[in-house]
Amino acid sequence: MKTVSLPPTINLHSLAPCNYKCGFCYAGFVSAKQSHLPQSELHEIIRQISSLPPTLESEVRKVTFAGGEPLLSPTVIEDIAFARAQGLVTSLVTNGSLLTEDRIQRLGPILDWLTISIDSLDAKTNLRIGRAARGITLSADDYLARIQRAKALGIRVKMNTVVNNGQCSRGFQCVHSHRPPPPVEAFSSHSNHRGKRRGL
Ligand code: SF4
Repeated sequence: MKTVSLPPTINLHSLAPCNYKCGFCYAGFVSAKQSHLPQSELHEIIRQISSLPPTLESEVRKVTFAGGEPLLSPTVIEDIAFARAQGLVTSLVTNGSLLTEDRIQRLGPILDWLTISIDSLDAKTNLRIGRAARGITLSADDYLARIQRAKALGIRVKMNTVVNNGQCSRGFQCVHSHRPPPPVEAFSSHSNHRGKRRGL
């Protein structure tokens, strides 16, 4: 029988749509035949991941729910609970816009890691980058409230930032600052679902 070798952390991009339109986003999934993976298939994948032996790097296996924006899925919290029940470490990458108090509360007992993508705390910059849903952006207070609430529930929190030329006029020295602004594009990333990928 063929042995499957997978890294200790696996990203589950089970949902393609996102409510933001970041100019640097590569999560287009143009080759995907459907915009989301049916729950039965997703759970079968999770089951198979949980049945794999530990790796040399880690005793535990971790699954990261990413997208698109995973909180657009009406079943994502159920899916995370399922992964946790299978003995996996759970992680969620989100732009934060749909992270309501109720959702954070429900994630508390089942989520190990929460990664929020924050590229700017300035509304105009976020609008320029495309980090807005129906023209609404998150403020510094909005991000802080979500982070503090999650941490209070014992969820470990990380932040992703894509350094891009849409941030040039606010807080970042832009290498193209003497030129007219080109379309928003990532220079580098610490992201696992956004911009040009470079590890977790
Ligand atoms: S980078 Fe993330 S938040 Fe932005 S459009 Fe892509 S998936 Fe959505």
